[in-house]
Amino acid sequence: MLESLIHSNSQNILTSHSMLILQIQTEALKAIHDYLYEQNLIQLMPVMLSPITDPLSHETSDAKITYFGQELQLTKSMIFHKQLAIASSNTKGIYIMSPNIRLEKYDKRDSGRHLIEFSQVDIELREVNSLKFMELIEGLIISVINRVKEKCKIGLENLGVSLRIPARPFKIYSSEELKKKLGENFEKESSLREIDPFWITDYYREFYDKEDPKRPGHYLNYDLIYPEGFNEALSGGERDFEYKILLRKIKERHQNPEIFEFYLDEAKEGKLVASAGGGLGIERLVRFLTKIQHIRDVSPFSKVPGEHYQI
Ligand code: AMP
Ligand code: MG
Repeated sequence: MLESLIHSNSQNILTSHSMLILQIQTEALKAIHDYLYEQNLIQLMPVMLSPITDPLSHETSDAKITYFGQELQLTKSMIFHKQLAIASSNTKGIYIMSPNIRLEKYDKRDSGRHLIEFSQVDIELREVNSLKFMELIEGLIISVINRVKEKCKIGLENLGVSLRIPARPFKIYSSEELKKKLGENFEKESSLREIDPFWITDYYREFYDKEDPKRPGHYLNYDLIYPEGFNEALSGGERDFEYKILLRKIKERHQNPEIFEFYLDEAKEGKLVASAGGGLGIERLVRFLTKIQHIRDVSPFSKVPGEHYQI
């Protein structure tokens, strides 16, 4: 049993092949920092432990520790920290290179794009709408691809990869229209059909994503989807920040408002502000840039859901 759960990565650790991938990752990370710096965003350091973390819209097991009698969770995302930080200063926006732990269920093992430990560049912009955030991300993706094409010619050649510079603006579809056309598997199907990254909007998910006041039951949120079957790159949205709305949506999702007491108190006192943001998975970005089929092969110490790990 144990044997079958262990996937040996030892032969992967820093071979010449993995070095090619890591060089591409290094350039991608540099491009991200440079671009966000040019956009005047402020970088925060990651939070790894907190009494609250992202409730997510799919089931994972919690990773918890007890410290001095207080239960703390390992970060699933820094959504609440982002909202609180952006509200308390008048910065244009913030970002974090944020390591996340999500103990994903076994069914994610073969998705090719899930790990239990990954990093996202998690961004939040103050008082902007979806389109402004999407514009920022389109610029980010193009600047990453430009840099990797320029700096990693030999690496890309060795991996047999040629990267397209996507046309702007990226296409935008609503989840409703894609579902009608392509069925339940619309994300995967549309990803297979497109040649450039594109947006899908309006998903029902976590309570903090803004419900459209003009169209109740619709949401001002979005996913960026990679083409060629590489699927989801980023999820994000405009945020709800008013106490009454947040409370109603928490209850609608059968979650316990007491858990979010500190955050809800801030909202009650009118201390939260409008914002839009999202998180771009780093390992998934590198997977897309290198056209590697399984995310396991992107990083040397990767942890795929449902396995036992040697290191
Ligand atoms: P989310 O807001 O939950 O969609 O997470 C933000 C981004 O992080 C996603 O769009 C992915 O790029 C990445 N991500 C989320 N979960 C995982 C995972 N289990 N493994 C690798 N990357 C992930
Ligand atoms: Mg998502």
